[in-house]
Amino acid sequence: MHYSGAVYRPPSEAHSLIVQCTLGCSHNRCAFCIMYKAKQFSINPIEQVLGDLAEARAQYPYIERIFLADGDALILPMDYLLTVLDDIRERFPECERVSAYASTKALMRKSDAELQTLREHGLALVYVGLESGSEELLEKYDKGVTVEEIVTHSLRAKAAGMALSVTAINGMGGREQSEAHAIATAAALSRIKADYVAMLTLRVYSGTPLHDWIERGELTMLGPKELAAENRIILQHIDSDGSVFRSNHASNYLPLKGTLNRDRDALIEQIDKALAGEVRFRRAVELGL
Ligand code: SF4
Repeated sequence: MHYSGAVYRPPSEAHSLIVQCTLGCSHNRCAFCIMYKAKQFSINPIEQVLGDLAEARAQYPYIERIFLADGDALILPMDYLLTVLDDIRERFPECERVSAYASTKALMRKSDAELQTLREHGLALVYVGLESGSEELLEKYDKGVTVEEIVTHSLRAKAAGMALSVTAINGMGGREQSEAHAIATAAALSRIKADYVAMLTLRVYSGTPLHDWIERGELTMLGPKELAAENRIILQHIDSDGSVFRSNHASNYLPLKGTLNRDRDALIEQIDKALAGEVRFRRAVELGL
């Protein structure tokens, strides 16, 4: 298998075969993100990808899930994606799910019919980054798309029959805009009603614009209790029946998991217990900070 540089995947793809179709992210500008800073976006030769799939088939008798990496595999041209998806279907008849990160720009570049074709050829789940429901914050962080665009094109992926996992980031507004970020994010998530809602926590890496904002005192990072309180506001305002809500990413101080709207009160209760000191927050050292 060919892997170049650090390879990222969502927590739920921990047991998936990772197939690197692209290197890096076609946007690569978000002010908090360092995932693909060392990589110039490029497309891996299709022969390499098909060779990797053949090698994996020879090595592993059973593969249930396959994740197409890197940051934005959906940006690939249709003929490339269909060749990979058809090869997967032929070689891995047991594979139950093929998934990929999908930037909103990549979704925008595919027509409804193309999204449907990708679904029919096996692309079952896409991961979309909302990050925040606040237009102001998306602009500040240079997300490159608006909240409206993210909502609209996430709904198109859903309409094409794909399962949808949407991530949002706790703490993106800092202390200054925590409440506004939480309310706007809950509103956007309520419109998308994704199958999965994954809450991450903002982390700071040197060399990013976010790092400079903090140095200059323009944004104050939230502590574990403030992050939990922000999550509480999101849960209070969200209406996304049937969505699996998770904040169990490695970056989170308080792991939560439940199904909305059914478990909303129970999740809020867990937060309240943590805020009252009855449930332990993960320590920074446990999160590798
Ligand atoms: S789109 Fe995703 S991978 Fe690309 S820079 Fe933004 S957060 Fe990072």
